[in-house]
Amino acid sequence: MRGVTARTNASCWKEARRYLVGGVNSPVRSFRGVGGRPFFVDRGKGPTLWDVQGRRYLDFIGSWGALILGHRNPEVMRAAEKALEKGTTFGTPTPGEAELAREIAKAVPSIEQVRFVSSGTEAVMSAVRLSRAATGRSKILKFDGAYHGHSDALLARAGSGLATLGIPASPGVPRGVTADTITVPFNDLAAVEAAVRRHGKGLACVLVEPVMANIGVIPPAPGFLEGLRKLTRRCGALLIFDEVITGFRVAYGGAQALYGVKPDLTVLGKVIGGGFPVGAYGGARRWMSQVAPEGPVYQAGTLSGHPVAMAAGLATLKVLRQPGTYELLEKRTRQLRLGLTLFAQRVGLKTAVNQVGSLLTLFFSEPPVRTAKQARRSDAALYRRYFHGMLSRGIYLPPSPYEAWFLSTAHGMPEIEKTLLAHAEVLEEITR
Ligand SMILES: *Cc1c(COP(=O)(O)O)cnc(C)c1O
Repeated sequence: MRGVTARTNASCWKEARRYLVGGVNSPVRSFRGVGGRPFFVDRGKGPTLWDVQGRRYLDFIGSWGALILGHRNPEVMRAAEKALEKGTTFGTPTPGEAELAREIAKAVPSIEQVRFVSSGTEAVMSAVRLSRAATGRSKILKFDGAYHGHSDALLARAGSGLATLGIPASPGVPRGVTADTITVPFNDLAAVEAAVRRHGKGLACVLVEPVMANIGVIPPAPGFLEGLRKLTRRCGALLIFDEVITGFRVAYGGAQALYGVKPDLTVLGKVIGGGFPVGAYGGARRWMSQVAPEGPVYQAGTLSGHPVAMAAGLATLKVLRQPGTYELLEKRTRQLRLGLTLFAQRVGLKTAVNQVGSLLTLFFSEPPVRTAKQARRSDAALYRRYFHGMLSRGIYLPPSPYEAWFLSTAHGMPEIEKTLLAHAEVLEEITR
């Protein structure tokens, strides 16, 4: 018997809203994007979640991409439990840190050395700091619709007009802090070129999600990443790939392995923690040696390189590097994409289904979706009804039309079929 009786989603929500801001600890979980209220998770296994009332859901979030092996993968659980038996944290080196760093350096083409931190936010913030220190410049260029965590300088949005300097995207972020952040449209090399012409001498880095995955999934246009590589090299800025989602997700070596473009610095998170809080940044020794204690760029962390997280991360990578893993992930996701598109066509609904590896987004909009602007034009009201239709059939999709669906190795053909069946039913319902 489980301990507490009569705990319901409604009672949990009531309690959560009383003591937590908006009832949650990260805004997207609140269902504001789709209406209604979230359910409360009791446990997960493989591709499945159970809520506190014992209802099952097929999970397409996987803790926002962290759980590429699904919930409670046996190898990962065993590794974490073994590490936990020795203690929780020491604030003194443990061998697991170099073991995971070595595996990352072997896998990710541009990385020789790694620094672990505790979140993706922290990792991006630190990589940007390093790029500013290494170049002696202060401006940073990023793309409309990208998410790089919630550090102040990156909570900037584009002003009116192309390549204007950023204005704060949140109260509490001073203008001065985002004044050096330039935002341009993704997949628009001409806009990047114009910005580089104007600000190139002051540009510390170009920061990019090589596959955009926080405005829905948007793949890079052919030549786009190569173009960024060329432009940054020419103006002396560092190219930073934010691979917090794509790292060990779209390929073992991340998007840089998939597309064959080597950035100067790479940011990782999500998958590499095996379900625990881990972020990392890395690159050539030439850059990384400028970080303290070898260099002057200060960055530290009480729980950085957490032994349980290192063990879970390493176990995750060991499973992932087995031959055929990524081919199978891609194939399952492709089957899902083809089915989603086919059933939408059958009811005469315009959809764009973007997929890269095991990342996918179904946009209710005229295809193609190649920029954030196009993504934002998708029909959010229709997605809301779709989301709830799927949820009532036990399929848990992202509670926002602008997020990726994440498949895991635990999603097999039965899960794809179940999803497509629900999809067909819900589409009929919402287009009737
Ligand atoms: C999730 C994410 C981050 C932030 O990572 P946190 O661990 O949530 O701080 C940064 N960049 C990208 C691309 C992300 O998807």
